[in-house]
Amino acid sequence: GDEDLDTVPTPLPLVSTFHRERRWADTSSYAAKKKLQSWFQLSNGDWELGKILSTSGTESVISPPDGKVLKVKTESLVPANPDILDGVDDLMQLSYLNEPSVLYNLQYRYNRDMIYTKAGPVLVAINPFKEVPLYGNNYIEAYKNKSMESPHVYAITDTAIREMIRDEVNQSIIISGESGAGKTETAKIAMQYLAALGGGSGIEYEILKTNPILEAFGNAKTLRNDNSSRFGKLIEIHFSETGKISGAKIQTFLLEKEALDIVHVSKEDQESVFAMLAAVLWLGNVSFSVVDNENHVEPLADEGLTTVAKLIGCNVGELKLALSTRKMRVGNDTIVQKLSLSQAVDTRDALAKSIYSCLFDWLVEQVNKSLAVGKRRTGRSISILDIYGFESFERNSFEQFCINYANERLQQHFNRHLFKLEQEEYIQDGIDWTKVDFDDNQDCLNLFEKKPLGLLSLLDEESTFPNGTDLTFANKLKQHLNSNSCFRGERGKAFSVSHYAGEVTYDTTGFLEKNRDLLHLDSIQLLSSCSCHLPQIFASNMLTQSEKPVVGPLYKAGGADSQKLSVATKFKGQLFQLMQRLENTTPHFIRCIKPNNSQSPGSYEQGLVLQQLRCCGVLEVVRISRSGFPTRMSHQKFARRYGFLLLESVAYSQDPLSISVAILHQFDILPEMYQVGYTKLFFRTGQIGVLEDTRNHTL
Ligand code: ADP
Ligand code: MG
Repeated sequence: GDEDLDTVPTPLPLVSTFHRERRWADTSSYAAKKKLQSWFQLSNGDWELGKILSTSGTESVISPPDGKVLKVKTESLVPANPDILDGVDDLMQLSYLNEPSVLYNLQYRYNRDMIYTKAGPVLVAINPFKEVPLYGNNYIEAYKNKSMESPHVYAITDTAIREMIRDEVNQSIIISGESGAGKTETAKIAMQYLAALGGGSGIEYEILKTNPILEAFGNAKTLRNDNSSRFGKLIEIHFSETGKISGAKIQTFLLEKEALDIVHVSKEDQESVFAMLAAVLWLGNVSFSVVDNENHVEPLADEGLTTVAKLIGCNVGELKLALSTRKMRVGNDTIVQKLSLSQAVDTRDALAKSIYSCLFDWLVEQVNKSLAVGKRRTGRSISILDIYGFESFERNSFEQFCINYANERLQQHFNRHLFKLEQEEYIQDGIDWTKVDFDDNQDCLNLFEKKPLGLLSLLDEESTFPNGTDLTFANKLKQHLNSNSCFRGERGKAFSVSHYAGEVTYDTTGFLEKNRDLLHLDSIQLLSSCSCHLPQIFASNMLTQSEKPVVGPLYKAGGADSQKLSVATKFKGQLFQLMQRLENTTPHFIRCIKPNNSQSPGSYEQGLVLQQLRCCGVLEVVRISRSGFPTRMSHQKFARRYGFLLLESVAYSQDPLSISVAILHQFDILPEMYQVGYTKLFFRTGQIGVLEDTRNHTL
């Protein structure tokens, strides 16, 4: 029934203790001490490093490298890591996991052109906005034969290929980040590596060449509203049994319904593509004039209008009507409503947008046709997902609502995967893994997806009411969802959601209109009846016949009973399809970071980076890892490093494991802070830092 969409993905048996502790800095075991390096915050919010000169209860005196001496509140100090940890290539190696330490570590590396850093299983990539000497055949060779192991897109891609072959499981590389962070570039770098390793047939070059075509379209700024509605792109690369690339498939995900020779598009089709593009551009020039004393408008019958009609292959009268009237069903009657200027402009823009997005879909279809190698799908695949990350702006609208919902799903996917990896390592070393807590965002997903009282259902319901407005929608949310711990009603038309990456306040202005989708029956009919080259595509993309009605009153077109789905429902359907695909793969995660807004090399804005680290969940990864036992050290290494701290000479002849345990006891490390495995000690974050401080103090 209606629950169909909710059957995927199947949850793993997640042993989770749900907690929403947002505090990230690990200061619990930190006592500010003389001589220690510490972080303190400047008035502009940036963090700076200083040495503690003295500390007396609430106040400390600290000296930054520039020689000044400052008085600061002791409680505001955040522990810095010992110098030996400067620029570690995995943030997990930091003894103190706190925001300034992570920011500093990334910046330290960034300044040295080491733009890649691991955050546990995640690769963090900071956009260099310049050419960095990290790519090309020599590097590919080095990662291939493992003579190079520093974090890199190549390394992640290499792991994906190896795991695909070893485990016979499809792989995915999930690349997220905000616009301009380097997602597409990163996807290309991954594809370069795949092409170099799995090449031979020549198809790999075709795949690489499709990128600029899709990018040209995806990034074109032809519409006045140039926030491209495409929020994700999935490239699935197929391999034959022998590990050679055998074909590829590209799928795009839209928020709304958005070099050609190389991909074998016929000259004739190319001409239609350009005609349609021209139509989109000309539509932008169509202007309106008031025709009656009720302020109804009609398009001016000028060159713009006639050119558009010619290009899309309809007569001027039809186009004029589609742009100035709207047919509405009232009961069994159809009434024709004339449009006001703002309605007409919206209709015109919606028409342009839909032509554009259909064109894009059509192009993707052509690219796929050219990349498919037969119908055989016997081998394995690696999918590269290029997707918008979590967004939180001053004002958040329907687009952020959808994108953040998608990211909430991806985060759950990520949590499960991480949990599984951790679990495997604990079990291998004989650790009781039920003691490991993992955060779970199921409550937030329920807030979105629950029927009938969830955000999406309530949005669809309100969208079907002719008298529904953004305000009545907001009020309904407050009425039904206030008891949900992830929801908070705000003043007026706003509400807040407690996402994994933080709380976001959404303004419901425009939600209903965007969800209903502005493209009306009249435009749909116009497009499906025109004599241009692509009417079938328009018809089939506008209307979905196989799915259940969600938004009514329902539109009828072309004789067939076709129902128009709400945007949110279509979005959810696409998201579930995507998740279902990803569910069957081993995921690898890359988070792209934009270090400044001016696209300039060498500039690293702490605040901007921090905000993205929070949003794209890097802090969350570290936080999740914190709740386990992320620091590991073999008994041998531990005994060697800290053995000399033992008071009595607890016989040095003893085995490393006993020495390790003796050290733990002597320093009163709380039993819940560590686990003793067969080969390793497992620590909660910060514990090694305490020992390291003592060691440095003693040396
Ligand atoms: P996104 O897809 O996230 O919007 P892009 O991948 O298009 O961002 O990157 C934006 C720009 O940043 C690119 O055009 C390029 O100039 C630069 N850039 C991104 N990644 C790299 C990289 N690894 N090396 C050099 N320049 C890069
Ligand atoms: Mg991009």
